[in-house]
Order: sequence, then C-alpha cells, then structure tokens
Amino acid sequence: MLLKDKVAVITGAAGINGLGFATARLMASHGAKVVLLDLAQAEPEAAASRLGDEHLGMAVDVTDKASCDAAILAARERFGRIDILVNNAGITQPARTVDITGSDYDRILDVSLRGTLYMSQAVIPTMKAQKSGSIICISSVSAQRGGGILGGPHYSAAKAGVLGLARAMARELGPDGIRVNSVTPGLIGTDIIKGKLTEEKKSEIAETIPLARLGRAEDIGGACIFLASDLSLYCTGITLDVNGGMLIH
Ligand code: NAD
Repeated sequence: MLLKDKVAVITGAAGINGLGFATARLMASHGAKVVLLDLAQAEPEAAASRLGDEHLGMAVDVTDKASCDAAILAARERFGRIDILVNNAGITQPARTVDITGSDYDRILDVSLRGTLYMSQAVIPTMKAQKSGSIICISSVSAQRGGGILGGPHYSAAKAGVLGLARAMARELGPDGIRVNSVTPGLIGTDIIKGKLTEEKKSEIAETIPLARLGRAEDIGGACIFLASDLSLYCTGITLDVNGGMLIH
C-alpha cells in the first residue's frame, strides 16, 4: 500500500483502455482515493463507480479554467485534501507541418499544455497549504525524439512544452514541498492509437524496441505510482522514460 489515505486527481481518466484509468485503478489498489476527471461524454462518473463508492468521477474540460477550479473545489469538499495530480488528458493528430491550421494548433496545445497549467494552478494552493504534493505530467517520447509515430509536430511541441512547464514548476514549488515530475511514454496500446496502426505495423515497431513489445497502460501506471509515492521523495523535475528502450539517451 504505497498510497494509503492519499487523494489523487487524474485527468483524462475515464477511458477504460487509457493510461489515466489504468493509473487510477493502480492507485486505488495502493489505497488512494481517486478523483477521475474527464469530458462529460467520456462518462467519468461511470468510470469512478467501476473502482468503488469511495472514488469520485466528475466532468471537466481541462482547457476551461473555471471547470478545473470547480472540480478541485468539489474534490476538496469531498476528501479534504489533494496529494497527487496526474496531468494525463491529451489528444493527438497526425499532420505535416505545413498542413497544421491555427485551430489544429490550438486544440492540440490547449488540452496537453494549457490543461496542465490550469489543473496545476487549481491544486497548488491546496498543496502549498499542506506543504506537500506530487504533480505528475504525462508528456511523450514524441517530445524527445521529434515526433513519435502518430502525432504531428504540434503534438511534439505540446508535449515538449509540458516538459518545460513541469521543470519550471518543480523549481518554483520545491520549497513548498511540492514535487513536479514528468513521464514520457513510448508507444502504448490505448484508444489513442486504435484503428491507426495495423497489427503488422505494430509488430514491425515492436521489433525495433529493445523490450520487443508495445507498452501497456499499466506500465505508465507503475511509473506514476513511483512518482506519487514516498519512494520518490527526493525526485523533482525529472523525466521518467517509459518506452521499452525505444529512445535511450
Ligand atoms: P486516451 O485517448 O485513451 O485518453 C485521453 C483522455 O483524455 C480521454 O479519456 C479523453 O476523453 C480525455 N480528454 C481529451 N480532451 C480532454 C479535455 N479537454 N478535458 C478533459 N479530458 C480530456 O489516450 P491515452 O493513450 O490514454 O493518453 C493519455 C495521455 O498519454 C495523453 O496525454 C497522451 O498524449 C499521452 N501519451 C500516450 C501515448 C500512447 O502511445 N498511448 C504515448 C505518449 C503519450
């Protein structure tokens, strides 16, 4: 039980095949009370009830500051504290540089980057008052290697922005007892890649990965447990690669 009595908020957590839900399930199994946030159409209340009555699901749009603030207020009213935030909500789009429109740019950057800022802003006052907290930002190998396999350059830029934001927050918030770290997943088999890669293509990619497979959602959940728990008390501003060796640098 690495997270006994901790309260964890996870964005983009309702998709049962997604990284957010896998992280929520793993955190719940380690004793955390979990607040699952997602867009209304993703039905976050239903996702929370899969984990049990002690968890909470709420509709939130992370690109909307008032929506983020309202969710954190409700989470505080229910649980009294917030120990962990996982900034996981993100969307992708394959596109070439010259084809990216202004609205594509806004959409992709807003969810990953603005969303990470707004949700972090929403929890920081509570964590400061507690003098402790762990914020985990889900970036991507795409930020590090200049494109993953599916996302366009605007996705790489959004996820690289997340790394910069996380590092700067880590420096600023360390003295308040708040740790901020990033996870850079490689290619993980979730709905984000569903229908976009044939089984043949996935096997081809797996052959190029030292650990010889695509990632599983639980692989990211495990990294988040480490960063959320006291096992990583002296880690802040780090980037934890969870990519099977796809990028070693
Ligand atoms: P996913 O599509 O299953 O999950 C993303 C979730 O974010 C969805 O539940 C979606 O409803 C939610 N979301 C979208 N816009 C939102 C908004 N405005 N407000 C709140 N929630 C919103 O995909 P996933 O693979 O589980 O991705 C999770 C995170 O991991 C994303 O940030 C993604 O970019 C990142 N990532 C994924 C991979 C991969 O290979 N799967 C690799 C690197 C990084």
